[in-house]
Amino acid sequence: MSSLLDNAGSNIHKKIYELAAQLFPIQRSITGEGVRDTLEILRGHLPHLKTHEVPSGTQAFDWEVPNEWEVRDGYIADLEGHKIVDFKNSNLHVLGYSQPVNRVVSREELEAHLYSLPDQPEVIPYVTSYYDERWGFCLSHNMRQKLIDTEYKVVIDTTLKPGYLSYGELYLPGRQEKEVLFSTYTCHPSLANDNVSGVVVATFLAKWLQRQTNRKWSYRFLFIPETIGSIVYLSRHWQKLKESVIAGYVLTCVGDNRMYSFVPSRNGNTLADKVALHVLKHHAPEYKPYTFLDRGSDERQYCSPGIDLPVASILRSKYGAYPEYHTSADNMSILSPEGLGGAYEVYKKCIHALEHNNRYKTQTLCEPRLGKTGLMSTLSIKGSTAGAKDILDLLVYCDGKNDLIDIANHLHQPIEHCVTLVKALIDNSLIEAV
Ligand code: ZN
Repeated sequence: MSSLLDNAGSNIHKKIYELAAQLFPIQRSITGEGVRDTLEILRGHLPHLKTHEVPSGTQAFDWEVPNEWEVRDGYIADLEGHKIVDFKNSNLHVLGYSQPVNRVVSREELEAHLYSLPDQPEVIPYVTSYYDERWGFCLSHNMRQKLIDTEYKVVIDTTLKPGYLSYGELYLPGRQEKEVLFSTYTCHPSLANDNVSGVVVATFLAKWLQRQTNRKWSYRFLFIPETIGSIVYLSRHWQKLKESVIAGYVLTCVGDNRMYSFVPSRNGNTLADKVALHVLKHHAPEYKPYTFLDRGSDERQYCSPGIDLPVASILRSKYGAYPEYHTSADNMSILSPEGLGGAYEVYKKCIHALEHNNRYKTQTLCEPRLGKTGLMSTLSIKGSTAGAKDILDLLVYCDGKNDLIDIANHLHQPIEHCVTLVKALIDNSLIEAV
């Protein structure tokens, strides 16, 4: 994987953005055609992506796969037939998993079925009710205040019936069966940072990894509905994942260019945490650290007691922490090729670190005589010549116990720097991998 870091600044970042723009308009929920349409588009990039279908009613730990939901139309109209709120203008207007309705209601009755944000009067909130039967509309508070008639016609054309929960899975085998897990969710409708961004960054990471033919680790990518999807997946595969996953990341909110954030695993001490913190320290040192108490996505399941997978998250602006979150303002205007591309590059660096994070042991007792090797004159690292000090500093930690991230941390260097040194030291028979 020597070419791992070559793509920075290329037009890949633009292509990630273009895929986000393509996926953004699709009506998605935790089940339904929109999820399958999304997976079909992803298959154009990842030919080996498999779709799994889990029937409604399937038990998964304490949960059950819900009925499949489809929405075709939804509007509030005055009694003269003028549509005031229309699903065709925004798929956020119909409450997620809304029951159907088709009748004239009083304004008082309608009020109990409306969701708006008085503090953000311009935007439509994203609201769902997967497990309680309700009908409802989401609208801007400004629009709500214009509803002054005594009666309105309300139409929500939806079906809720036994079907399937669909999810996508891509497994890329490596030299080792131990694997790195990337999980993202395909259940949000037209919302960009949360979480079209996670879907497209995952897709391009997988696309890049499938071209790397010499992978040490195996890689698994999951495109699942949030919460119920990870619970269903874990209920079927948690033991296998416990045996094989060395590190994992939930890809969510990785599309804007305002900041980086980090949500650790439950205890914060896994390889996934260690790698992410190392990469962030060197490539995005201004990142905002959160704790596991700030969790909100599928790490809730992956890190739950008994499952205990090593799963963390590097994000851009984190869910719940940016003003556009779960509203119609979380649209393509807050994503950028730089935002998406930055997250993509940082995750590539995590993969690079995982692939090279070996332990090494020196082959001589006491310091080697570097003068006997060609190292002193030939070793040139990006812009600076590594002197004997660099080499001896690295060697002194090659005790077979420190891994390369530990050593890089001791040296206050990014792991890429140490990878280059290690190669030269191996070529000169000064260290060996253990
Ligand atoms: Zn969300």
